[in-house]
Amino acid sequence: MTKIHDITNRTSLARAITLMESTRADHQQEAHTLLASLLPKTGNSIRIGITGVPGVGKSTFIEAFGLHVIEQGHKVAVLAIDPSSTKTGGSILGDKTRMSKLSQHEDAFIRPSPTGGSLGGVARRTREAMLLCEAAGYDVIIVETVGVGQSEIEVADMVDMFLLLLLPGSGDELQGIKKGIVELADLIVVNKADGDLAASAKRVRADYSAALRMLHPSNHSWQPKAITCSALLGDGIPEIWHSVGEFARIMDDNGDLQRHRSKQAISWMWKEIREMLMNQFKQHPKVSARIGEMEEAVQKGEITPTQAGYTLLDIFQKVDADGSPLQE
Ligand code: GDP
Repeated sequence: MTKIHDITNRTSLARAITLMESTRADHQQEAHTLLASLLPKTGNSIRIGITGVPGVGKSTFIEAFGLHVIEQGHKVAVLAIDPSSTKTGGSILGDKTRMSKLSQHEDAFIRPSPTGGSLGGVARRTREAMLLCEAAGYDVIIVETVGVGQSEIEVADMVDMFLLLLLPGSGDELQGIKKGIVELADLIVVNKADGDLAASAKRVRADYSAALRMLHPSNHSWQPKAITCSALLGDGIPEIWHSVGEFARIMDDNGDLQRHRSKQAISWMWKEIREMLMNQFKQHPKVSARIGEMEEAVQKGEITPTQAGYTLLDIFQKVDADGSPLQE
């Protein structure tokens, strides 16, 4: 692969993201050098997270919303975090048949979820891809996730505004909404508010509006709200974009956006440290030689998990007289 110096077109942006997703150390090194050089160009976007159960209409919504936003003169990047891909290597999000009109548009960039690895690993690569997209001039970034597992929390932790898509007519449990997710939402969108489902969508909207008023808002300057839309017909899409604009303006004016992003950056740094330390720990030759034995002893109840932890940490921390880690 020749070195990537700029990412001003979709092909070179896609290649830079591929480099970032590679597990090869030299690729990662190159990607990080590239990202570091592009850092001053990042941050100039509104970062929107979108979640909802399979079938709620996420891809239909993102296609309609993305095309509307492009019509208003913006460039849209769509990234996906798919918890299923971390387990199976396959993906329920992000396959090429989704969002076909949007993906063909020259002002859109759609990237399927990186597959394999832990959710934390996928989230980290998505964060980095988000920065690359910003440096490439995309000013509206959508991070999509399917509402299962812990992925919503990961997404909420990397975006400015979090949208929860709901279906008309069913209660929280049927919607697959886990505790705490409604609290994360800045905007609840009840989709499929058309035809026979329109009345039921309105009822769900009213229920959630009431619930949101009772919950503490996720930040003080913005009061989360619920609205209806029909992604299929395009109804409500301009209103949602208007709300996003309003959110961004309010948050920016009072400094909340900057504070929110700074907090996220610090939390990201600690996640990186945890992951790096864990990798170093597991790859340490003397530690890895004893892990199996320790696990077995814990399993059999011969030693406590705490004892095993201390034993392994002790081995990890032992250093030679000159201060370098003890090697085999
Ligand atoms: P995803 O799994 O969340 O990405 O959902 P899709 O966008 O694939 O949509 C699932 C199904 O719901 C498809 O058959 C869509 O045509 C349909 N759908 C999506 N949005 C709407 C809508 O606003 N109204 C109606 N009636 N159907 C919709």
